[in-house]
Amino acid sequence: MKVLISGASVAGPALAYWLHRHGFEVTVVERAPAPRDSGYAVDFRGAAFDVLDGMGILEEVRGHETMMRGTDLVDEEGRKTGELPAEAFAGDLEVPKRELTRILYRLTEGDVRYVFGDSISRIDQDDSGARVEFERGEPGVYDLVVGADGVYSTVRRLAFGPHERFVRHLGMSGVGFTTANHLALDHRGVLQTAQGRAVYLFSAADADRMTVSMSFGTDSAELDLMERDRQEEIVRERMAGAGWVVPRLVEDMAAASDFLFSSACQVEMERWSDGRVVLVGDAGYCAAPTSGMGTSQALIGAHTLARHLAASAASAGGHAAAFQAYEEELRPYVLENQKHGRVG
Ligand SMILES: Cc1cc2nc3c(=O)[nH]c(=O)nc-3n(C[C@H](O)[C@H](O)[C@H](O)COP(=O)(O)OP(=O)(O)OC[C@H]3O[C@@H](n4cnc5c(N)ncnc54)[C@H](O)[C@@H]3O)c2cc1C
Repeated sequence: MKVLISGASVAGPALAYWLHRHGFEVTVVERAPAPRDSGYAVDFRGAAFDVLDGMGILEEVRGHETMMRGTDLVDEEGRKTGELPAEAFAGDLEVPKRELTRILYRLTEGDVRYVFGDSISRIDQDDSGARVEFERGEPGVYDLVVGADGVYSTVRRLAFGPHERFVRHLGMSGVGFTTANHLALDHRGVLQTAQGRAVYLFSAADADRMTVSMSFGTDSAELDLMERDRQEEIVRERMAGAGWVVPRLVEDMAAASDFLFSSACQVEMERWSDGRVVLVGDAGYCAAPTSGMGTSQALIGAHTLARHLAASAASAGGHAAAFQAYEEELRPYVLENQKHGRVG
């Protein structure tokens, strides 16, 4: 059975791994020109450890643990007012996202066909298969198409409808990037919250760099899809008048090569599949960064989907039965995580 997966971050390569193990022929198409080398720290909780263990990479992933020692709370002048323990942000295990992506890619690159720098542009499906067109590559016919392409999934837009129908904004947006570690943070974070703004800085794996996050309240997630110039303008407006190191961080932002603007969003859908198309990870059921469960959910979702597809290949129900079983098994877990995401 030929499967095309869109997205090579967490859910995509994890699903590719399990499907290949069950005998499927897998192609992964990723919009970025190469495996992604950026991103914040991501955490693992609960059953995600079993999935990593089953893939034989738990110890390798553990080897990249950020070893955060906690976060200092500071006032508007940067004076320490309190402290949060490491667990407040780090879950049971926290690693830089780029290391996880690298490990998953290395694990699968020999068995799975990866196409970088391209995107699906059209999907037409009937009883015999899904005919897929790409922005750059030649069209192809696949038995199944999987959207593992994040909150603003192209597969979801093409097969289910526009983003506005499924992306629910939680009222907060922000920018993330790395810069020189000018606060000399050592496996520590520092958090300032004042006047509707939150500035969080931390340094872990690379002592010379610190990760910057500056967040603020917003009414919609529309900014996520705007040009960087406009996003920077909004950050400057919203951080205006803030003291401490904020003016310098705002200057650093303009030079950042790993600039990422995003809103806290959830993806809510009544169905995660339509015919031969199915969604996995943030594309189908993002729980928002505030849940701390996005990566665990992507890994568990990929494993659950692959298990049901493998079982259905040997039975009469085919992929439709597998998609239904995947959804029935996973939805209660997703709803719980989304509840935590909203509270967070
Ligand atoms: C700001 C922020 C902070 C976060 N913090 C945490 C945290 O602390 N802990 C935690 O567990 N999780 C966190 N997350 C969430 C976590 O990163 C995601 O939930 C997790 O990576 C989900 O993986 P995914 O593979 O489903 O989607 P993503 O990681 O979003 O990957 C989607 C992939 O699809 C690719 N793609 C997009 N469009 C296309 C296209 N048209 N064609 C081909 N490829 C495409 C993208 O380039 C990307 O590689 C955070 C997310 C954000 C945005």
